[in-house]
Amino acid sequence: MEYRKNDLVTIRIEDCSTEGQGIGKADGYAVFVKDTVIGDLAEVRIVKAKKNYAYGRLEKILEGSPWRQEPVCPVARQCGGCQLQSMKYEEQLRFKEKKVRDHLERIGGFANLQMEPVIGMDTPYHYRNKAQFPVGRDRDGRLVAGFYAGRTHTIIKTDNCALGVSVNQDILNRVLAHMEAFSIDPYDERTGHGLIRHVLIRTAFSTGEILVCLVVNGNRVPGEKELTASLREIPGMTSISLNVNRKNTNVILGDQLRILWGNPYIVDSIGDIKYQISPLSFFQVNPLQTVQLYRKALSYAGLKGGETVWDLYCGIGTISLFMAQKARKVLGVEIIDAAVENARSNAALNGFSNAEFFVGKSEDVLPEQYEKTGEYADVIVVDPPRKGCDETLLSTIIRMQPERVVYVSCDSATLARDLKYLCERGYELKKVCPVDMFPQTVHIETIVLLQRLNS
Ligand code: SAH
Repeated sequence: MEYRKNDLVTIRIEDCSTEGQGIGKADGYAVFVKDTVIGDLAEVRIVKAKKNYAYGRLEKILEGSPWRQEPVCPVARQCGGCQLQSMKYEEQLRFKEKKVRDHLERIGGFANLQMEPVIGMDTPYHYRNKAQFPVGRDRDGRLVAGFYAGRTHTIIKTDNCALGVSVNQDILNRVLAHMEAFSIDPYDERTGHGLIRHVLIRTAFSTGEILVCLVVNGNRVPGEKELTASLREIPGMTSISLNVNRKNTNVILGDQLRILWGNPYIVDSIGDIKYQISPLSFFQVNPLQTVQLYRKALSYAGLKGGETVWDLYCGIGTISLFMAQKARKVLGVEIIDAAVENARSNAALNGFSNAEFFVGKSEDVLPEQYEKTGEYADVIVVDPPRKGCDETLLSTIIRMQPERVVYVSCDSATLARDLKYLCERGYELKKVCPVDMFPQTVHIETIVLLQRLNS
């Protein structure tokens, strides 16, 4: 039978979608319900009905699953940041392991896969070193900063986000107070008017250095001196900057950056290596788990000292410098200019003379360099964004025939697609290890080792 909007149904949650919604069946008809956990018996209001399935809103838990827990955050259900706060952490890890396995089996065609156990966190909260808060007005016209609600751009005010660090709130309060004092409007996506769009904050966990970058629809902010004076009172404040974004787009950052006060970067370290990080550079958001991930990457690379390693999508050279500790030579490729500048200073800062960096797309630079030098690579590391690797890049890897490929992925679906390509062309999947970089969310990082078949 088909249901209609606003119908009330009672269902037992039996499965979980890759987006983290519980799935139950009402007369064989699948209903997807956010904030439910496998095992829950729930009263659910149908909010959208399709031919073969529906979306429902949780109204009441009639019988709680043994895997259910009370979310620590009071706005967990509205906020789009977390999807799994109602699920106990051990179950979150099981869910993520299964998600990776399902993708590799269904999309990649790898059957009976041996995976290493997922690496989880002991304390899966307050792990993020970075947050980007949109600024706007609430219904009563008051200034607010927080996170977007799921699927909309309504700003949910957050007081002490369960994933972030507590200093974020102090910074936001000071920015909002400054806006109030100088009558500065937040940016309004609908009209394109207003100045302040986002507040980006990054904290270096190992040094305590803090970076604040205001994303603005303009070139300056009224009262810049007063604003920096206020922010500088916060211990650890190291870098305050403006990023100009005048486009009517969902992309948060523009390309122009102006330092208002302090250094153009903060310094953090992972393991024994120090890194300078600029406001526009990518840096892993969960430093504790990043060490685990990079150690794994190093062990999968199996370096003995004489190798040439390519690190594609290298960001500020994080994995590159981990590898440089053990390899003869490391070559990094990254598309963002400022990140490559960071990578070069980071190599110098840590005394590595065996790392070289190229600005450009991995799928352009690697084939170009290979045509030019014909040089053999022992190991190729890739760490692409969610969309995975371009096919030109994968085909170049096949031509270069490195002995090992280490693939670090933040999207197991595109990972599976790319592994299928490589494994149909002479590589064997040797190891797979999920690393939970993003507790309370549905995201999971995966690291994989591929070995050339006839090596
Ligand atoms: N390995 C790094 C960064 C990984 S994030 C680390 O662990 O910190 C992915 C990086 O790829 C980002 O820095 C992004 O700017 C970069 N990037 C995105 N598309 C790219 C492309 N086509 N070629 C090279 N780099 C790209």
